[in-house]
Amino acid sequence: MAKVSINIATGSVQKEELIVGIDLGTTNSLVAFINPDGNPQVINDTGKGLLVPSVIHFQSNGDVIVGNEAKEFLIFDPQNTIFSVKRLLGRSFKDIEAHSSLFSYKIIDDDGESLVKIKVGDKFYSPIELSGMILKELKERAEHALKTAVNRAVITVPAYFNDSQRQATRDAGKLAGLDVLRIVNEPTAASLAYGIGLNPEEEKTIAVYDLGGGTFDVSILKIQNGIFEVLSTNGDTFLGGDDFDRAIVNYWIEQNKLEDKLEDSSFNQALRLKAEEAKKALTTQNIFNDFVGDVPCAITKIKFEELISSKVDQTIECCKNALKDAGLSISDIQEVVMVGGSTRTPLVKKRVSDFFEKEVHDQINPDEVVALGAAIQSDILAGNRKDILLLDVTPLSLGIETMGGLMDVIIPRNAKVPTKAGRQYTTSIDGQVNMKISVYQGERDLVSENRKLAEFDLKGIPAMPAGFPKVDINFKLNADGILTVEAIELRSGVKQEVEVKPTYGLTDDQVEKMLLDSVENARDDVSKRMLIEARTEGEQMVYTVERFLAKNADQVSEQETTDTLNLINALKNALGSGDKDLIHKSIDELNEFTRPFAERLMNTAISTAMKGKAIE
Ligand code: ADP
Ligand code: MG
Repeated sequence: MAKVSINIATGSVQKEELIVGIDLGTTNSLVAFINPDGNPQVINDTGKGLLVPSVIHFQSNGDVIVGNEAKEFLIFDPQNTIFSVKRLLGRSFKDIEAHSSLFSYKIIDDDGESLVKIKVGDKFYSPIELSGMILKELKERAEHALKTAVNRAVITVPAYFNDSQRQATRDAGKLAGLDVLRIVNEPTAASLAYGIGLNPEEEKTIAVYDLGGGTFDVSILKIQNGIFEVLSTNGDTFLGGDDFDRAIVNYWIEQNKLEDKLEDSSFNQALRLKAEEAKKALTTQNIFNDFVGDVPCAITKIKFEELISSKVDQTIECCKNALKDAGLSISDIQEVVMVGGSTRTPLVKKRVSDFFEKEVHDQINPDEVVALGAAIQSDILAGNRKDILLLDVTPLSLGIETMGGLMDVIIPRNAKVPTKAGRQYTTSIDGQVNMKISVYQGERDLVSENRKLAEFDLKGIPAMPAGFPKVDINFKLNADGILTVEAIELRSGVKQEVEVKPTYGLTDDQVEKMLLDSVENARDDVSKRMLIEARTEGEQMVYTVERFLAKNADQVSEQETTDTLNLINALKNALGSGDKDLIHKSIDELNEFTRPFAERLMNTAISTAMKGKAIE
């Protein structure tokens, strides 16, 4: 469906509709777009600020508010105020059980396995719906500020998000009325904002350090030919700026002997907000001095740094682990990109820079950099930057099982996505009306060593001699890595289609192991494959010739029949020997001998039988 936007301010029709970039954060969310000068810019809806706190408040009259105004209610109405919903996206109760005490609102534990729900008043909401509310607010702010319809977006997610979390993010976008063109990794977006990876010639290995409100992650990326490959990620999903605030709160409690006041949750929240204010102030000043009620809240920068030092150390440990997992050392890292509001803290910058032994990229506001990069990505998708193509690659080959249990690769590993490819197959038995299509992922020659993704039957093929049907199998892999397999018998038009998620459930380690296995076993696999191919061909030959003799007994002399049967027996013996050269030799002999009378009585079935690969 094509849509036309009219810019009401200028009266002009925008042919290409705007695509925005959205950073849907745990603590803060924001939208960015490419301004008419071609530069990314965060959208600031009249006076509402750039960052939209990812907080939703359900008012008693049923209204829902999102952002700064909702944040106020964390103090006054915590049960009806939802924060950190990103932590719950695509997760089951079991996933988050250990941390459920962190949430002041009600999370429903149905059976542990299914996706969580949140209860507000007497209504239930899924994290997808709640994230959808945040996205809807962002969409509306963008529309208001830009005075144009905003229907398409790129949304970012952490690099460690699994399929189910990515799908949930996409669904949340859909609920908000957005067509989500691409889900992009946050570290990829951040590096784009710094222009790293925009030049397809450039090859780089970079570290992206992201310390947000409640989460920390570090990603090591390899950028090559415009492809961003995540070499490793590490982090702590419960470490962030909130811990810095808590450290300050605890310090004030101790200083002022406030232990008995802690029952009062709104006093608690007020202290927490004051602590955040102090932390931010200490980014640029050496001392903070204020009150909550009549309680003095003072802290020096030196004290603050002492309080958070061990937390910062923890993030450095994660950086070490990420390097180790990527098999790299510090000197391999060419650039370090700082992301997340908490990297404004000078001590954090210093420690990261000391660890990587280089200056870090911190020129762009760290809480905006992801959204800005997402806007650049959307601009690329809109086709406005023809010179660059941002692509992801599929980590493992995709193919189907052919006769003898062999893997026939249709989309090879490292193919850039989106992509499509297809191949034609045929049947191996006369009158075969069903064809089983088994889809596999992996690098080994035998499907039994690969991972089965899906299996389905192409049913209703009209009965024809073996080798007669023409079955086209097409693989379509979209940009999110979702594979659609379509099988169609061309003579009859019989068709079947399935959708599979190739990488679902595979961790990076598993992918790596599958690749290593394939390398280690490559030689072994090749000889096995050659033997299986020879056997399949031989069996097919025996089948075809025996059938030929049975059908055409009257057309062949007795001597010819005897000789043919002898050659068939020789081939059968060769098949049992496991010697591929012997099999080939016997096939050739049988072929040579039967060719004259096959030609005499050209049966299309025979000539077609050997074309195209057959599927059992
Ligand atoms: P997320 O990615 O988790 O949504 P952000 O990147 O927006 O979060 O980071 C939010 C965190 O950044 C909060 O803990 C906030 O207090 C912190 N922060 C914001 N500004 C500063 C600052 N000037 N100094 C230190 N921390 C800051
Ligand atoms: Mg973030």
